[in-house]
Amino acid sequence: MPISESMVQDIVQEVMAKMQIAEAPAGKHGIFKDMNEAIEAAKASQKIVRKMSLDQREKIITCIRRKTKENAEILARMGVDETGMGNVGDKILKHHLVADKTPGTEDLSTTAWSGDRGLTLIEMGPFGVIGAITPCTNPSETILCNTIGMLAGGNTVVFNPHPAAIKTSIYAINLLNEASLEAGGPDNIAVTVEKPTLETSNIMMKHKDIPLIAATGGPGVVTAVLSSGKRGIGAGAGNPPAVVDETADIRKAAQDIVNGCTFDNNLPCIAEKEIVAVASITDELMHYLVSENDCYLASKEEQDKLVETVLAGGKLNRKCVGRDAKTLLSMIGVNAPANIRCIVFEGPKEHPLIATELMMPILGVVRAKDFDDAVEQAVWLEHGNRHSAHIHSKNIDNITKYAKAIDTAILVKNAPSYAALGFGGEGYCTFTIASRTGEGLTSASTFTKRRRCVMADSLCIR
Ligand code: NAD
Repeated sequence: MPISESMVQDIVQEVMAKMQIAEAPAGKHGIFKDMNEAIEAAKASQKIVRKMSLDQREKIITCIRRKTKENAEILARMGVDETGMGNVGDKILKHHLVADKTPGTEDLSTTAWSGDRGLTLIEMGPFGVIGAITPCTNPSETILCNTIGMLAGGNTVVFNPHPAAIKTSIYAINLLNEASLEAGGPDNIAVTVEKPTLETSNIMMKHKDIPLIAATGGPGVVTAVLSSGKRGIGAGAGNPPAVVDETADIRKAAQDIVNGCTFDNNLPCIAEKEIVAVASITDELMHYLVSENDCYLASKEEQDKLVETVLAGGKLNRKCVGRDAKTLLSMIGVNAPANIRCIVFEGPKEHPLIATELMMPILGVVRAKDFDDAVEQAVWLEHGNRHSAHIHSKNIDNITKYAKAIDTAILVKNAPSYAALGFGGEGYCTFTIASRTGEGLTSASTFTKRRRCVMADSLCIR
């Protein structure tokens, strides 16, 4: 079909519109200079949302899903450019996952008792305006996913995003409000400030109109939220071990673990951060990691250089987080072949590259005497975060023993970690896994209050 002038104009207009949204001035589409003003706007918007039918909320959510997909590549590129972390291809996939698999209003279920004394219901009602703090590792993914769930529950949301990802976060918040307006809803269903800081976060946490705060990030922010005196949903850090026993399909285990570990350069909190393998299959596993899965076997000297670079002065070097394996190797003077995806080595569980949550494709392998020893070492490595753990085994008794001992919100068996997000596994998607406070994988119902609605002596028609 020949391209007409009007078609070209349409495309130009579409691109210009997107650019304008990316640079939307303060106060427009949910972006404010002042946190109190932002909260005020979200409060006014929530009054409108509160009166909407579930069907109207769902119309906005459908529009958010469509816009998330249409903008998946732009958001993925912005995220990588702004933070320097992750990779565009996997970030596109993550946005599609959010669009396709984040639950909407269907997640709100009603419990009913009906009998001689009438009808009683438990309904899920909104909190109002929810405060949300989001990480730089999945910036727009978390904002879009949180808003779908929170809006489905009848809430609006004020974000204090990570300052290192503010442009990407603002773009996502613009999109959310555009979607709402397009679907006949109000502006400011999601809001933020131009320059989020610890001060704006404190204003949000202490504000009288914020009854609930959802914190997605490291231990610092979760502790801050849980000390705020408000109800908090704490989605904190992890250090997920992948246990491999002698009954596993070792070849497949190696492939699954590297696929999970390297997804978005290991940024997801659920991603495999180290392996604990029983001794009888450790050599075979190492063989498959290196010979079939593009892993680079780091020497003792290279491991030491990695420790100096990645954990400079004992602190996690932010310049290494979310970088690919080849870049990390180049930082220690190793020019690795183009196909290298992951760095592996064998070491004790106390090795700093194993015990620390690095969020980069470095996989230390810990050798365990037997399965009981593997469980003990894995539990130690998870540091009581109760976040995520993985296992490759065909022995149901072993899997059960591990599941009970490690007691995490997520346990993936015989698959890459991302199966837990509904990617290559059943179930819904979320980017806020409330490991610390126990809600687990959050969804619309997590962001609602249970309310009992009683009709005495009537409406039982049995
Ligand atoms: P981070 O803790 O540095 O920042 C997260 C957010 O908290 C940011 O918005 C930051 O500005 C804010 N923040 C940090 N300290 C704060 C404080 N004392 N008071 C108020 N706000 C504060 O984390 P990050 O580097 O952006 O993300 C990576 C971390 O988040 C990892 O530990 C990862 O495991 C975790 N994470 C957890 C989940 C989950 O669902 N459980 C999801 C993604 C990331």
